[in-house]
Order: sequence, then structure tokens, then C-alpha cells
Amino acid sequence: MKKFLALALTAAMTMTMLTACGSSEPASAEETEAATEETTEAVEETTEAEESTEAPAEETAEAATSEALADGVLTVGTNAEFPPFEYVGDDGEPDGFDMALVKAIGEKLGVEVQIENMEFASLVSSIGSKIDIAAAGMTVTDERKETVDFTNSYYEAVQYVILPADSEIATADDLKDKAIGVQLGTTGDFIAEELTSNVSQYNKAVDAVNDLVNGRVDLVIIDKNPALVFENKFEGQVVAVDGAQFGFEPEEYAIALPKGDTALADQINAAIDELKADGTFDELVKTYIEAE
Ligand code: GLN
Repeated sequence: MKKFLALALTAAMTMTMLTACGSSEPASAEETEAATEETTEAVEETTEAEESTEAPAEETAEAATSEALADGVLTVGTNAEFPPFEYVGDDGEPDGFDMALVKAIGEKLGVEVQIENMEFASLVSSIGSKIDIAAAGMTVTDERKETVDFTNSYYEAVQYVILPADSEIATADDLKDKAIGVQLGTTGDFIAEELTSNVSQYNKAVDAVNDLVNGRVDLVIIDKNPALVFENKFEGQVVAVDGAQFGFEPEEYAIALPKGDTALADQINAAIDELKADGTFDELVKTYIEAE
């Protein structure tokens, strides 16, 4: 705009010199300046108009952002009884791989992460009310997909069988008609219920293992990594056996999301991709899972 004004003044001065008409000079210069100001105002108005047309576009972009993130807080449900993915840390707060992962996701998305520790069996039904999402070493299953959506999978697992150290159970056939301990509402529970009606369901996985040690159940079916943690914790008393030996299929862990919230799925998937690309994800695997 300054350039335009300078040009206008130059033109006015040139005209003054050419016309040599004393009285009209100042008027002419003023008129030119006034015209310039009008032009400036008009241009400013245009800019404002452009800005105001941009505003609805921004609103549209916000509308595509998940409601779950609108308050700046992502409430994450978990069941902190599933080491190394989630457990209660020394400070009394939920810790573990999943907790570190969701906090890193929260940082990428610019939202605060709040953890709600609850029963595993309540997680899926609490999504969209008590909690925004659930991160709990949760296996993607068709049944759960009827109620919730899942992010891309972030870990492959399989069910393990925890046995008393002196147990002779070794094949799929040996599992039939045994007393099986499981964590309520888990894929281990679903497998056990297909094998027998003699299933003891616990809210805390460690209670199932305690009952195995006490002889109240013959075996416990639980995911690989917690099984290995419990094998360590109850060293010499129990052994953890790969469920592949009994024909159990691999499972995929993912974060559970409100059904239909594709904006949230896209944002969390993008955050996980970034954490994988920048090495954070591998660091968390090393710290929490491989160090187990
Ligand atoms: N992966 C198992 C499931 O989704 C167990 C998860 C857990 O106990 N936290 O059912």
C-alpha cells in the first residue's frame, strides 16, 4: 500500500509541475491521497471479507475434530491389573506400556490424558459415557466391534496357559474338563468357556494365579506378556506355556473408540504412526515389554 501511495504522490507532483496551476495543486494532492485512503479502506474491507469467509471454513475443520477431544481432555479407561501393559505403579497411579502410549498420543494431539482405572469387563460399555476410549491390552474381536471401533492394531499377542510347575497338562485335549481361572470378560475367558463350564472368573488376574497356586483351579488362561510376568512373580511355583501349543490363535491389541468416531480414529492412528516413525513407540516397547 505504501508503494501505491508513493506512486500516487509522484503522479500528483508530476501533474503539479506540468499544470503549474497553483490553486489546484494542494487540492489535487489531497484528492489523490483521499482516493488512496479510500482504496486502502476498500482493500482492508476485502481482506476482512476474506477473513470472514475463512471463519466458517475453520469451524468446518473443528467440526471434523472428535467431540471426545473438544474439552481438551482425553479420558482413557483401563484395568490396571495387566502387567506390563497396565498396572498400579509405586506412586499408586496406573502405569505400564498402554499408559505411556496414551500419554504420548495425548501429547501429539495436544490434549490432557486422564486415566480411569476400572474393571476390564466394564470398559467397552463405558466408552462414550464414563470414558472416551479404552487402552487395556484389548484384543480386537468381532463381538466388541459391534459396540466399539478400534484403532489400527499396535501389538500382537496370544493366550498363554499358566500351569502349576508340576502339571502334566500339555495338549489341547488335556485342557478339557479342567477347572480354569480367567480374568472376567477377556478373550482367555471366552476360550475357557468353550472348553468347560468349570470356569472361575476374577476381576484381577493375579487372584486367578493365586488360586492356581492354592490349588483351587488347574490352570489359568491369560495373555502372553502378563503370563510371563506372573511366571516371574511366582517363580518355581508356576510355568507359562505358549498357547500356540494348545491351538490358540494370535490376537491383535488396539485402542477401543466410540463407534463411528472416524475423526478420533484418524487422529489417534496418525499419532501412533508418528510415534512409530520418531522412535518413541520402540522405546516404550523396550522400556515396558522387553525389560519385563
Ligand atoms: N487381551 C485380552 C482381551 O482383550 C485381555 C485384556 C486384559 O485383561 N486387559 O480380552
